[in-house]
Amino acid sequence: MELVNGSYRIQGVVDPLELCEKFDCPLYVYDTSIIKRQYDKLSNSIVLPKYKINYACKALNNINILRYIKTLGAGLDTVSIQEVKIGLKAGFAPDDIIYTPNCVSLKEIEDAMNLGVKINIDNLSILEQFGHLYPDYPVCVRINPHIFAGGNSKISVGHIDSKFGISFHQVPHLKRVVETTNLKVEGLHMHTGSDILDIEVFIQGCEILLNTAKEFKDLEYIDLGSGFKVPYKENDISTDIQELGERISQRFKAFCTDYGKELTLMFEPGKFLVSESGYFFSKVNVVKQTISMVFAGIDSGLNHLIRPMFYGSHHEIFNVSQPNNKPRIYTIVGYICETDTFGANRKISEISEGDILCFKNAGAYCQTMASNYNSRYRPAEVMVHDGEYYLIRARETMEDLLRNQIEVNFFEKSIV
Ligand SMILES: *Cc1c(COP(=O)(O)O)cnc(C)c1O
Repeated sequence: MELVNGSYRIQGVVDPLELCEKFDCPLYVYDTSIIKRQYDKLSNSIVLPKYKINYACKALNNINILRYIKTLGAGLDTVSIQEVKIGLKAGFAPDDIIYTPNCVSLKEIEDAMNLGVKINIDNLSILEQFGHLYPDYPVCVRINPHIFAGGNSKISVGHIDSKFGISFHQVPHLKRVVETTNLKVEGLHMHTGSDILDIEVFIQGCEILLNTAKEFKDLEYIDLGSGFKVPYKENDISTDIQELGERISQRFKAFCTDYGKELTLMFEPGKFLVSESGYFFSKVNVVKQTISMVFAGIDSGLNHLIRPMFYGSHHEIFNVSQPNNKPRIYTIVGYICETDTFGANRKISEISEGDILCFKNAGAYCQTMASNYNSRYRPAEVMVHDGEYYLIRARETMEDLLRNQIEVNFFEKSIV
C-alpha cells in the first residue's frame, strides 16, 4: 500500500477507505501481488533442478488465498487433518500436500494417509505403530537438529527441549524401527522455528539433517522447513533469502552428488509468503487522554489480532484517514476487557475519532488466530488481485456465535 496523491492505494488503484466503507471495520485485506513477490524471491534464490515450496497454510487459510498460491506452483504444508481437507478442497493434488502434525493420534494420521497425502511423522512411538500397520506407505520423518533458531520461545521449535521431531541423537533407534517395520523413508524434515535471525544457525541445522540423510537409502526429498523472518518495522532485520537460497542450493547439490541421486529440496514458508500481503483496518472509537498518556481505542482487540499481546510482536500502525497531520504519540488499545495493547507510544499522524488505522504485516497468524472472545464477530476478509477487490469471507453474525449452542430444557426436568 502506498500514498498516491496524498491518499493510500492498494496495488495503486484500490482505495482502502472505500473497502472499509463498503465492508465495514474491522477488516482484513490481502494483496496477492505481494504474495507473488515473496514467492518469486524465494523461488529465484534456489538454483536446483528439483525443488518445491510448500505453503504453510496455518499462517492464512482462506481458500481463495490457497488457490492463488497454488497458481504460483506451490504445494501445501498442513498441520491438521482439517487443513489437509481444506487444501484438497482448494484443488491441491494429494501428492502436493505434506501433513506435518505434532502429537496427534494414530487415527488422524491414518485419515491423512487415506486421503493420499505425504505424511511426516515426528515421534518414534507413532512411527513404529504406523510402520507395523502400513509398511508400504512411504513416510517422511521429522528430525530435531537441536539448534536454537526462532525469535522467541513460543516459536522456537528445534532446540533440545522442544517437543517437536525425533532427536538426531536417536537416529540409531529410528533406523531400527525402520528396518524392523520395513518402512520406506522417502523424506527427512526439519523445522526449527519462526524468525530465523542467523543464516549460519539454519545452515548448521541443514548440515545435521544432511548428515542424517546419508543413513537412509530411499529418500526422494529433504524438507528444510521454514522460519524465514520478514521485516516488521523500518530497518528491521530479516532473513537474507537470496544468500540463504544460494548457499543451501550449493550445499544440497554437493549432497545429491554424494548421495548418488537428484533429490527434491523443499521449503515450507508461511509468514515469509503472506505476512506483508496483509493489512488490518480498524476504526478509532475513542481518543482518551489520561494523566500520563493519550490512548486511541479501536473497534477491535486481542480477539482479532493477538500477536502483539501473545508474542510481543510489533505491527506498524498508521492513520489511513488522515495521513498528513502532525504526528503525535498514541498508545493504541483494543475494546476487550483485558489489557490489549496493540502498540505503546507510537508516532501516528494526529487521530480524530472515526479515523481508520491500518496495521501492517497482518497476513500471517492474524485472522487464523482470531477468536470470538467477548462474543465479538470475527472480521471479514478481502482479497485484492490484479487491481480488483473481492470479498472472500463475510463478517460473522449472531447466528455464527450461537450456531453450535444447544438450548436444553433443564429447568423443567429438574422440577420433576
Ligand atoms: C508453522 C510451520 C511452518 C511455517 O512457519 P513460518 O514461520 O510461518 O514460515 C512451516 N513448517 C511447519 C511444520 C510449521 O509448523
